[in-house]
Amino acid sequence: MLNSKKQRISIFFAWLLIVPLGVYNAYSYSPSLPIDWENVIFLFAILFITMFLPFKFQNVMISLERWITFTIFFQYGLFTELIFTQLAMFLLLFGSKTDTPALHRFFINSLIFTLVSFISGYIFHYMGGVIGSLDFFHISLFGLLYAVSYTVLNSIIMQLYLYFEFGVFTFWEKHIAWDFLVTMLLLPFAIALYFLYEHLGNKAIILTGIPFLIILLIGKMYNQSDNLNGKLSSASSVGRKLADQLRVDDVIKTFIEKLKDVVSYENAYVLDLRSGEHLYLLMSSENGLISQNASCIDFKSLKEENDGLSLDVTTILRSKKELRSLKNFQFLDSVKCVMTAPIRRNQKTEGFLILTSNKKNVFQSLERKIVDILTGYFAISLVKASYYEKTIENSERCGLTHLYNYRYLDATLDEEMIRLHTREIASLSVIMMDIDHFKSINDTYGHQSGNDLLVALARLLEKVVPEKATLARYGGEEFVIALPDIEKEAAIELAEQIRHEVDQSLFTIVPDLSEEREPVDVHMTVSIGVASVPEDADDAKALIRNADRALYIGGKQAGRNRVGVYGGDKSIHV
Ligand code: GH3
Ligand code: MG
Ligand code: MG
Repeated sequence: MLNSKKQRISIFFAWLLIVPLGVYNAYSYSPSLPIDWENVIFLFAILFITMFLPFKFQNVMISLERWITFTIFFQYGLFTELIFTQLAMFLLLFGSKTDTPALHRFFINSLIFTLVSFISGYIFHYMGGVIGSLDFFHISLFGLLYAVSYTVLNSIIMQLYLYFEFGVFTFWEKHIAWDFLVTMLLLPFAIALYFLYEHLGNKAIILTGIPFLIILLIGKMYNQSDNLNGKLSSASSVGRKLADQLRVDDVIKTFIEKLKDVVSYENAYVLDLRSGEHLYLLMSSENGLISQNASCIDFKSLKEENDGLSLDVTTILRSKKELRSLKNFQFLDSVKCVMTAPIRRNQKTEGFLILTSNKKNVFQSLERKIVDILTGYFAISLVKASYYEKTIENSERCGLTHLYNYRYLDATLDEEMIRLHTREIASLSVIMMDIDHFKSINDTYGHQSGNDLLVALARLLEKVVPEKATLARYGGEEFVIALPDIEKEAAIELAEQIRHEVDQSLFTIVPDLSEEREPVDVHMTVSIGVASVPEDADDAKALIRNADRALYIGGKQAGRNRVGVYGGDKSIHV
């Protein structure tokens, strides 16, 4: 985009220098014929409609206005042709979908059109072409010369302009080929219309113009249904990609990323609606950057009933005034168009998708339909992924303390041993602990309170273990901490710290056996065993067995509330 002010100013000065001078020059020096106003109005109407109906073919925008501009040139000369195109272009600017300001776009288009028409018009005259000639051979020959110059110049100037705009040379081979082909196809139409006018007057325009426009309209309609088909098949491929994701975060990320393939937005936000009233940002994509923060949008986290954010239908907001109807949202000034879509599951709105664009009128009913389909896929995939995550969680974690379970620990230790063999880590230590006299705690306060104590101890342990450690509930009141890349000495230190901290803590529980159900503070202690690889074992099973031995001999047998260390000489010291 030509966003820099400097580029805009240079385009404006180039326009000022070239266009008025070119038009004046064409007026003074290029021969022109008397104007039949009725004819000119008819031609202008057809030119305008033709310019309004460009269509896309193989991703190239094709506009067929040349069949009229060429006719005008052959009939009235360069000056009329220049005025015609400038006027049509000016009228066309409003209502198109780009974010380049209308006036700026007019200067660019006007400059390119003027240069192309002017130079090819001069080539025509210079080589001997005569405006208004009724010699078929003459018009065909010089018309061909004019048309070839026109398309060649257009491609050259477009390439120069693109270089100016993007700063790199991008060779648009396909565009050049299509421009040439379309120009050559339109030339016979232009010549036919020109000669037909000589014989039939304005009836010629009805005879050729109307069918031409009808064909154009059919092309446009076909284009739209083709576009719809394309979007629908992209939407179903997005749906498949969403269904492939097993993690909730990946589903949201894929949704935001892939949505861009079908709906061109600048920024997107996925909001969660918690308990029907709290809006919470799950993920955003701002200028292509995906994150969990938003800097280009501001919204109140409490959803109100009449805040304009519809819970039921996807809504498109197209003007500043409509944007203001979203009371609790604030967008950047550059935002021209917003779409809000409820994300619904089981007839209930669980969240929202908010899309913004800096281009006018980008979101239309087609985009709304696509978004409706995709939010549907999205909601289903989210449910599936969250079930999957829950299943995994249930198979990996203990239901009471939510720490990892024995199975997970076992698999982790095997993996860590492999990492040790491949020298990814240099050591692996294991801390095993068992609550002292837990049976009597159970007997005193009840089994339920015993459970509460297990949970409380789990929370304490979570706070002290290092980040890369794996903390698991190994059995009833036994816990294990696997410590990759932590040497034995450091593991002993950590074990001692844990023992000390448990000993110093009081755990508050409400005894389920007592009548009063008054909270009581319980003191408990743990005995711990430490063993490490490579010093104490060759495999995971031996490592755990030796930590267990250290726990019983160095911890329990030695008097409890102690750390037992599995010794290098296979004897236990405390
Ligand atoms: P020590 O380890 O000091 O030798 O004595 P202890 O009383 O802790 O003995 P032991 O380890 O043999 O007994 C474990 C007790 O822990 C047995 C059981 O009542 C209790 N226990 C095991 N799992 C749970 C559980 O999930 N909830 C509760 N409340 N108690 C449990
Ligand atoms: Mg035990
Ligand atoms: Mg015990």
